[in-house]
Amino acid sequence: MSIAFAAMRRSSYTICTTWTATFHLRKMSAESLAAVTRLKDSGFIKTQGLVGGKWVDAEDGKTLKVENPATGDLICTVPYMGQKETSQAISSAYETFQSWKKLSGAERSKHLRKWYDLLTAHKEELAQLVTLEQGKPMKEALGEITYGADFVEFYAEEAKRVYGDLLPSPLTDRRLLVLKQPVGVVGAITPWNFPLAMITRKIGPALACGCTVVVKPSELTPLTALAAAELALQAGIPPGAFNVVMGNASEIGDTLLASPQVRKITFTGSTAVGKKLMAGAAETVKKVSLELGGNAPCIVFDDAELDVAVKGALAAKFRNSGQTCVCANRILVQEGIYEKFANAFADAVQQLQVGNGLTEGVAQGPLINEAAVQKVESFIRDATNKGAKVLIGGKRHSLGMTFYEPTVLGNTNTEMLISREEVFGPVAPLLRFKTEEEAIHMANDTNAGLAAYVFTNDISRSWRVTEALEYGLVGVNEGLVSTVVAPFGGYKQSGLGREGSKYGIDEYLELKYVCLGNMKSA
Ligand code: ADP
Repeated sequence: MSIAFAAMRRSSYTICTTWTATFHLRKMSAESLAAVTRLKDSGFIKTQGLVGGKWVDAEDGKTLKVENPATGDLICTVPYMGQKETSQAISSAYETFQSWKKLSGAERSKHLRKWYDLLTAHKEELAQLVTLEQGKPMKEALGEITYGADFVEFYAEEAKRVYGDLLPSPLTDRRLLVLKQPVGVVGAITPWNFPLAMITRKIGPALACGCTVVVKPSELTPLTALAAAELALQAGIPPGAFNVVMGNASEIGDTLLASPQVRKITFTGSTAVGKKLMAGAAETVKKVSLELGGNAPCIVFDDAELDVAVKGALAAKFRNSGQTCVCANRILVQEGIYEKFANAFADAVQQLQVGNGLTEGVAQGPLINEAAVQKVESFIRDATNKGAKVLIGGKRHSLGMTFYEPTVLGNTNTEMLISREEVFGPVAPLLRFKTEEEAIHMANDTNAGLAAYVFTNDISRSWRVTEALEYGLVGVNEGLVSTVVAPFGGYKQSGLGREGSKYGIDEYLELKYVCLGNMKSA
């Protein structure tokens, strides 16, 4: 560490005198220091909020800490903003909306395409930034950057394809049209588990169709959002079209909700906060899109191909250390294949290498914070107290910090917390079932309805079960299903609206019906 540290200090002194002032290099571990050093010359690392195209601090100078969950290192601080800065960002977004909406789709498309090119050109550095502040392994972080950038490219293309309609009129002297227009200023509130993709999936379509945005990233992962915003500025997206504020989450949220200039709230996060935002949006009758919690069932039938089911369940459960809303939360296994599956699955889980996401070969990073580990511990305690058996893992990892051993629990049942609520961690509970009807009932017996997975080799069964599942996304013999071209969103309390795909842009458009009357016939 001392050699790397000395080299860092020398180069930071000659290359960038503000670098050492911005980043807390002196106390960093070797891993964080190496990552920060690599990012130093990228030209897009920002540690201030973005309001009206200007990088700004909180008016009262308050800051909040950004830490590396793998090491506990303090990386840097960013402004702790609130009502004042959010109001300024809204005004700026509102002003910019007046000109941005008037550009043609083709003109907006060019800016977005350039932003995509920059995101892609810098994907390695952006992935390092994601791993540094969020913890996921570099391979997954690179996957997220590609996935996140793809939304910008996809909606750069869709910007040119916002078609209206000409309706068949019941009266011959009338012509009836439908125009599609941008809703206006959008408030986008995003979580920490996908620091880039949850932003681009929202603001890609918003900017494409002429809206402007105020983004509030998670306070745990603001640096990726700020880097993405800087690259958007470099791409020529006008100052004020893309603002970023972070700090006091409820104050920022309330300011967005109260403003009549904000016409849409789009949110990804917990069901509890989503409900608050939905209620708050009622006052000014804003449009709302919500991507909330899941409780994904992964159903393995006796006739499933064992290898495919193990690989699929592993991917569906352990991606991002179990910290995604589409992660398999309950693995329902038919009794005939239960033992074989449980053994093969536990073996596969044991192979997962745990460590700092910046280290080559690591498949499982840390959990986001101590509270996340405590939640995992309490769910496992509840399950084992009620008779569940730990097949593998079941305790904190010897690496310390917020690392937790990838865990498989056998003999779990529907009375346990772990099968009723989202664990959001690396724990896979296995539940036994006998019949197809029982599996469908167990799968649907929840208020959530985001993702579900089915493993079977019987094509008729795959259709029957898919159609019966009350879920917005279903993977059949596949554990990773998200893609830019498919609609993402949930049934029931998992949310409202869809993101991505050709449908996603409709969430940011108003329909205007126009009647041309009294047309004279020749
Ligand atoms: P998680 O538990 O996964 O962090 P949250 O729903 O708490 O999920 O957070 C998702 C996003 O919502 C974050 O950006 C967070 O800061 C924000 N948030 C939390 N509480 C509020 C609130 N009262 N109003 C607006 N945004 C909020």
